[in-house]
Amino acid sequence: MSKRALKLSEEGAHLSAKQSKKHWSLGLLDSMKDPDLIYKETERVVIIRDKYPKAKIHYLVLPKDNITNIYKLEKEHVSLLEEFGELFKSIQAEYKSHILNAGFHAAPSMLRLHMHIISKDMVSPCLKTKVHWNSFTTTFFKPYKDILEELKENGFIKKMENDVHKSLMATPLKCNQCNYVPKNMPQLKDHLLSHE
Ligand code: AMP
Repeated sequence: MSKRALKLSEEGAHLSAKQSKKHWSLGLLDSMKDPDLIYKETERVVIIRDKYPKAKIHYLVLPKDNITNIYKLEKEHVSLLEEFGELFKSIQAEYKSHILNAGFHAAPSMLRLHMHIISKDMVSPCLKTKVHWNSFTTTFFKPYKDILEELKENGFIKKMENDVHKSLMATPLKCNQCNYVPKNMPQLKDHLLSHE
């Protein structure tokens, strides 16, 4: 190996060691810069593919400004959120045969504000747990329209109480497209295929 190649590979190893020390909750910040994940970009917003999609179509809409989560939103962010809505409309127009939902998790696990755009099918190998399911199919998933309305009205987003969060995550499984009540996640995942 030439001296330069050796130096580059050492730099690469150093960089990946540095990156691996980053907390997992910061992962979206790297993904926002990853050309393989970026789907669309505007002056203020980046849309990326969710790395672990929970449905056939699953995007994340993030601001370039450092806004940590919905609870940091203020009145001045209304126009940014309206742009999120416009981008949602444009994605919906691209996927005419799918029903898409846009919304935010009441207690997001990842840093940087992000709005999920996710198709109703919920068919994906990455959808594995009851928590995954309930985070998109209960009121833990706060629809985009409600968040925009609350921000316009109050100038802030009210936090969800911890006990409400806990009870939503413990909600018994039920299909999001009919009244089917599965015994467990494998049964639910099988059943979801019947709606295709
Ligand atoms: P939440 O914080 O609960 O609103 O959800 C975070 C979302 O980010 C989940 O749907 C994950 O699948 C997704 N995710 C986690 N890590 C990454 C990453 N490094 N790049 C892109 N998406 C990610």
